Amino acid sequence: MSIQHSFSGSILCIRNEASVFLFDKETIDHNPYHQAKQLGPTGKRLDYITWHQHHMFMAQTLKEMSPLSEEKACGCYIVDQEHYQIASGFSGQLDSSEPDISCSHAIFVALLRMQRVGKSGENCVMYTSRFPECAECIKRIREAKISKIVYWVDDNDDGEEDKDVLEIDGVTCEKYSPMRRISIDFHDGRG
Ligand SMILES: [Zn+2]
Repeated sequence: MSIQHSFSGSILCIRNEASVFLFDKETIDHNPYHQAKQLGPTGKRLDYITWHQHHMFMAQTLKEMSPLSEEKACGCYIVDQEHYQIASGFSGQLDSSEPDISCSHAIFVALLRMQRVGKSGENCVMYTSRFPECAECIKRIREAKISKIVYWVDDNDDGEEDKDVLEIDGVTCEKYSPMRRISIDFHDGRG
């Protein structure tokens, strides 16, 4: 399986077998993955990713675990100040018949998990593939005292109002700025 998160656009491609994978020329020219893991003058790879990129990659990968449609699929990944994973979730992960479940959104799932292990959201950053759209998720974020939300897309019609409410409670909201493509090929090459 190959997962491509384009951090220079919004392309996400997954393949399960050795099928032809199409890149346009511009993508190849600008994709560090195709530039043979070059080393810089200090001997370090030039294409290593940052924590910030890693965390959004994880949120996007969690989104791919959602069985829901593209409009509802979402992934959420929460980290502490030391970049340690506190909780994660994806939409549709929980059965709504489970106690304490009022929605099955990725953010709700992650915050529920965080609560169940007794962790606070203070000084924690939430990476999500989609800005929260539901009142219950917004409420939970405020209650958890999450410090910051980094989101990939915002298709919430009331997004600006919700951001104002969150910012009043000290939750910083930041749109993720894609800078590059991250590619990992899980295919073993024997197919
Ligand atoms: Zn929700």
